[in-house]
Amino acid sequence: MNPAPAADLLITNAYLVLESQPASAAERAGGITDVESAQDAGREIDGGWLAIAAGQVHSAGRMGQPMPEAARTLDAGGRLVTPGLVNTHHHMYQNLTRAYAPAVNGTLFQWLTTLYPKWARLDQESVYLSTYVAAAELLTGGCTTSSDHMYVHPVPELIDAQFQAVSDIGFRFMANRGSMTRSVEDGGLPPKEVVQDEDTILADSERLIKTYHDSSPGAMTRVALAPCSMFSVSESIMRSTAELAEHHDVRLHTHLAEDTDEDDYALEVYGCRPVEYFEDCGWATPRSWVAHYVYGSAAENARLAAAGVGATQCPSSNMIICGNAADAKTLRSLGMSVGIGCDGSASADSADLWLETRTALLLGRFRHGPDSFTAREALNMATQGSAANLGWADEIGHLNPGACADLVIWSSAPLSQTGVLTDPVEGWLRSGPARAHTVFVNGVERLSQGQLQLPGLEDAVLGHREAAAAMQN
Ligand SMILES: [Zn+2]
Repeated sequence: MNPAPAADLLITNAYLVLESQPASAAERAGGITDVESAQDAGREIDGGWLAIAAGQVHSAGRMGQPMPEAARTLDAGGRLVTPGLVNTHHHMYQNLTRAYAPAVNGTLFQWLTTLYPKWARLDQESVYLSTYVAAAELLTGGCTTSSDHMYVHPVPELIDAQFQAVSDIGFRFMANRGSMTRSVEDGGLPPKEVVQDEDTILADSERLIKTYHDSSPGAMTRVALAPCSMFSVSESIMRSTAELAEHHDVRLHTHLAEDTDEDDYALEVYGCRPVEYFEDCGWATPRSWVAHYVYGSAAENARLAAAGVGATQCPSSNMIICGNAADAKTLRSLGMSVGIGCDGSASADSADLWLETRTALLLGRFRHGPDSFTAREALNMATQGSAANLGWADEIGHLNPGACADLVIWSSAPLSQTGVLTDPVEGWLRSGPARAHTVFVNGVERLSQGQLQLPGLEDAVLGHREAAAAMQN
């Protein structure tokens, strides 16, 4: 007998989703369902095991097939196991101003101008607490990697506080160094307390990349550069940020085509449409992914897809504050990578990737009909689509050998899952709400039997309450 390689952990008795893909058009035409296709191709294993070693997926197989020796075995009890969900657009600091009454009825621009003066009170302590709470909240919804677009900088080193929080939690994180240069005085939306000059932004971007960007496999921290939007930054910072990202080989992110007000603004200020301006600034590259992308024209969709730009659909936020959402089905059919984001805590007012994934499923079917979009396509957006947004598709968003050991064992809710017999993935997304039962990030258990394993959580929640009260009062 060959001695099997040692693993740190062996998860047994699981319904394993190694990667989420629907059946092909040809399979469907032949009457093959998504679940049959996935099992036939080995993308899903009913009654499977998965081994983890050194923070990576070591191997996977069917119960009964030889398993490696492991230091620990965890019986998944027949539950669904998926790759950890990946969040590609968020503003974590906004959980300090959730459901803020004076702003709940505004348009996007009214909402922003009401809240900017509150956000001008951010400091390192409140950013640490909001990031801690946000990452913990995301874990409970099955998210194991998040980006965060932090663009309000009334004081320096706020992103350093974010890295401290995610490192205290053990959460995989891509900071998006956001920026604003154009205050109300210069025709922008934010007050001057939260904008910065270009030299400060570029120097701090470079400092953050050098300090925190880890391009090596299995990295827990990466950095992307992310001017907030065309309303709030100068043309020169758009251009110089793209050059800096190229120089350091990091990702580029911004908001694009989120609201029809943007079309009027771009026409008035730049004499062109938002996407044309984006292209003109040198941003139409495979390095870029954009948040929202609701209002691109058919020709613009085709151009950005061909250029390799990715998009993040933010279902809840878009429906609450914009009245429309990215057409994920059409964008994906053009070859664009489309991920999922919960968006800022004060626009969506929630940060649950399962909820956003389910809403992406509903939006797809609502727009294109009941035969247009399935749970596996929505789950693909939240895993491989999101991982592609972050330029991280080699390692996260799937559970094939060599992937980061970021995974979720989902709770099998005794009532809502009763009667789900023929398709565990459709059942998981249609019948909910689903909660994470156990979550591993980098092979470490951060949530066990529905409980977060975070010693600092209670203090963080208490501190967050005080910081939110101070900001909102
Ligand atoms: Zn946003």
